[in-house]
Amino acid sequence: MSSTILKNNKPIDVDSLPRFSAPATFMRLPHTETAKGLDIGIFGVPFDGGTTNRPGARHGPREIRTASSMQRTYNLATGVEPYEICNFGDIGDVPINPLDQHHSLIEIQSFCEEIIRENCLPIAVGGDHLVSLPLLRALGDPSLGLIHLDAHSDTGDYDFTQTKYSHGTPFRRAIEERLLDPQKIVQVGIRGSSNSSEELEWAVAQGITIIGMDQFHQLGVEGVSAMIREVVGNAPVYLTFDIDCFDPAFAPGTGTPEAGGLTSYEGLNLLRRMRGLNFQGADLVEVCPPLDSSGITSILGATVLFEICCLLAESRQKGVSGYAG
Ligand code: MN
Ligand code: MN
Repeated sequence: MSSTILKNNKPIDVDSLPRFSAPATFMRLPHTETAKGLDIGIFGVPFDGGTTNRPGARHGPREIRTASSMQRTYNLATGVEPYEICNFGDIGDVPINPLDQHHSLIEIQSFCEEIIRENCLPIAVGGDHLVSLPLLRALGDPSLGLIHLDAHSDTGDYDFTQTKYSHGTPFRRAIEERLLDPQKIVQVGIRGSSNSSEELEWAVAQGITIIGMDQFHQLGVEGVSAMIREVVGNAPVYLTFDIDCFDPAFAPGTGTPEAGGLTSYEGLNLLRRMRGLNFQGADLVEVCPPLDSSGITSILGATVLFEICCLLAESRQKGVSGYAG
């Protein structure tokens, strides 16, 4: 349950230290060693060992921490004040090994398992999209639904002759490992070119609902959010947000940009329309600071992160407990 009597952690008060000051943490929240006593724990996964083309997402967590110093505490669109209703903390980064993918995936999973053991909801900041696989392993619930915003389906079978683990394959592996209920998966923003039709055909054959950009514009944000609700209902659900769902005009700093994507307003508006769903965790991935211009992508990433904090805080407030609860 949320702590309503105990005092929640708060972002550093701007009257005591200006926004450009102090060591950077997510949302200027206190750094905590563990998830103990937290309702929601934000942590970095500085791993891009699943990247097939332009690397650099390993630098995402640090840059998003810096960009998040601009995020305040009150959501002007929804009125939600996440740090009033839940106890948040920045639990630091997973100690990954950039030279060892196998070891890193185990580290990511066990870091997240420890958070869940404390009955705390995890919010991970990547890193490339492969990090979602060990996070879903940590949640370990075959009935879990998935809301997946991305230009790509990430349900490929392999990259580079039989390499099974890349940022193009995490949701194929997750379905094979029974970490998701495919009937409760909805992918939004899918577009661009592909090496073959196999990936999307496989996804549809599993029962995944795919909303490509043409359908996105036909339905509008309201229609898309209605469809998401229809697919996931009240099921426990995980939110995975690949920053490349946005058009490169809004998010150029990412390894695999695809023209013709969401505007920043469409993406943020869609998130705000997911209030009340039964979120069990979330991640934000593929922000690649070395390819960014003027920090624009990290700023958008930090804004998405604030919306995710608002969504999970409300889920938690409703008394939705984590798996350990
Ligand atoms: Mn992706
Ligand atoms: Mn993508």
